[in-house]
Amino acid sequence: MSLNDDAAERLLVVEDEEHLAAGLKLNLELEGYEVEVASNAREAGERLLRPEGFDAIVLDVQLPDVDGFTLCRKIRKSGNYTPVIMLTARNSAEDRVEGLESGADDYLAKPFELDELLARVRSMLRRRQWERRAEPTSGGARTQFGRATVDFESHEVEVDGAALKLTRLELDLLRYFVQNPGRVLSREELLEHVWKLRNYSTARTVDNFISRLRRHFEEDPQAPVHFLSVRGAGYKFVP
Ligand code: CA
Repeated sequence: MSLNDDAAERLLVVEDEEHLAAGLKLNLELEGYEVEVASNAREAGERLLRPEGFDAIVLDVQLPDVDGFTLCRKIRKSGNYTPVIMLTARNSAEDRVEGLESGADDYLAKPFELDELLARVRSMLRRRQWERRAEPTSGGARTQFGRATVDFESHEVEVDGAALKLTRLELDLLRYFVQNPGRVLSREELLEHVWKLRNYSTARTVDNFISRLRRHFEEDPQAPVHFLSVRGAGYKFVP
């Protein structure tokens, strides 16, 4: 997290394949980012402890010491919610789901097009700026619905009085719902406003995240009362 908003945004690339890491570093630097490379999870952990922090992390799943899923869980557990884009080795559904479950914000299957990675990094960083500018919801940053209390400023979430950790993207999605109660929101709108992506092919990502919100907040995730599906149209939040 850069202290100075005018400073170049700082990225951490965690990738052990030297050629790929060097290529990513060069191309991200050409985009104007400041880039550090870690070639294993231990090194990544050390860099993440430094006070200057990062604005985003590009994390490869296949690392020589600890795999990217485990590292991502550790990062989140330590209370670090820096956006993570995960590079999965195969385009398998299990890897994508595991990546998102481990707290990643986005994923990209290898081999990927450089342009697509750059676009996704840009979209993650735009989302952060939007989040910083986002108006507090009515009555301040705190909101209450059903059994849940959410403080969007401190990121403190409680369900039935028990503290809950949400990933940055889960919070962003929840914030958008809370700001638009009772309105049907299409997957495309959610992708555009929350993910800052207009790539309709990732609409299933939205479904995945809705399931996560339901698991967090619904008494019976199979029979939701707050995060409703609207057939053929999208989703609707009912406080
Ligand atoms: Ca690797």
